[in-house]
Amino acid sequence: MGFKLIHDSHFTSERTEYEPGEPVEVVFPWIATDTDYQFYIDGAFAMPEYMDGRYVIRFLMPAHDTEVSYSSRNTMFYDPSARHDRPSWSDGSPLSENEWKCNECGQVNSGKFCSTCGSPRPKQERARSMEDRRRLSGQRRSRSAERTLSTRFSC
Ligand SMILES: [Zn+2]
Repeated sequence: MGFKLIHDSHFTSERTEYEPGEPVEVVFPWIATDTDYQFYIDGAFAMPEYMDGRYVIRFLMPAHDTEVSYSSRNTMFYDPSARHDRPSWSDGSPLSENEWKCNECGQVNSGKFCSTCGSPRPKQERARSMEDRRRLSGQRRSRSAERTLSTRFSC
């Protein structure tokens, strides 16, 4: 009677039950571009091998049920010069930070104009959300990202 190997459907393994000390091989084939992955065995950081476009996690089965998990984060907006203490992959999507609520009809928008009634994005709201973003995110955004934002929002 072995112990259970627990993982979600993103992983594949030969079996779901192993004897203690048996070599276990868990494969993670769902590698997306612009994404960093971290793998964990029972919550402890695990170093995967990269083979043929897949990550392979190998270990010897401990004498208890063992869970293999992963976390991922998008690296498209990642700025290495803006490191901070919070893990950046727990940040919300960058789009939601740009959202604003229309004063006229209450529609939540992300563009310059309301998608329902066509009202322009209020200037005050814009300034406040920029301020909020700076306060909340600190130095998270690179200067070039800030420049892109202010260019996009000036009408
Ligand atoms: Zn509107």
